[in-house]
Amino acid sequence: MKYSWFVVLVMVLLILSACAAPAPGSPAENQAEEAFATDRKRMVVEDIVRRGIKDPRVLEAMEKVPRHRFVPEEYLSEAYADHPLPIGHGQTISQPYIVALMTQHLLLEPGDKVLEIGTGSGYQAAILAEITDEVYSVEIIEPLGKQAETRLKELDYNVHCKIDDGYYGWEEYAPFDAIIVACAPDHVPQPLTRQLKDGGRLVMPVGPPGFYQTLWLIVREGEQFKLINLGGVRFVPMLGKH
Ligand code: SAH
Repeated sequence: MKYSWFVVLVMVLLILSACAAPAPGSPAENQAEEAFATDRKRMVVEDIVRRGIKDPRVLEAMEKVPRHRFVPEEYLSEAYADHPLPIGHGQTISQPYIVALMTQHLLLEPGDKVLEIGTGSGYQAAILAEITDEVYSVEIIEPLGKQAETRLKELDYNVHCKIDDGYYGWEEYAPFDAIIVACAPDHVPQPLTRQLKDGGRLVMPVGPPGFYQTLWLIVREGEQFKLINLGGVRFVPMLGKH
């Protein structure tokens, strides 16, 4: 009788430790990380390379960034699946292929200064930060932006984050070599085109919310802008008042 409480306590502790996430650096965690890495390799080959993405910097980044660290726990098993996933507040982490496609069109080189509109989970920002050290990202939904900022820091990604309406870009750090927009406004925001360097690239979806949008590549040539239609896509709408 004297020992029965002790036995119950030990059993409770054993059950709790079995349910908890594996301890950092433990064999169980190493095994889980290896499984995620295998899944990530499969994703790059089957969903990205096979669809024509060739930029070695983009492929290397997609193979390196732990996407599973950017998705809510209930979607962990789908972290490397070929579709977007909910991240709360009615928003989504983009489909891996779309992240790769948009990043490839930015023609990023190490040292380029890049602005992202729509930090969301922080995943796209991490991909950019694998390629260049100068990444700026704006998110309009405060809890998402704050969570992404913390997560990016934990993973050692050097990304400057702010909470604001990204329609207006980030004047203080302009001009940018490249701008990527992860939400779809119904027109191209002029502040963003103005914040591009000469020769700079802007990749963004444009179109009415709830429908398919068109992905555009806009290249600045002096005071002229070249518009290239990259095809139909589906994105969450751009929020804010403009
Ligand atoms: N790049 C993100 C994708 C997030 S989805 C990722 O990798 O997870 C698009 C994001 O754009 C959402 O988080 C949404 O809140 C944000 N957003 C929408 N309108 C915005 C605006 N006007 N300014 C900044 N962010 C905006």
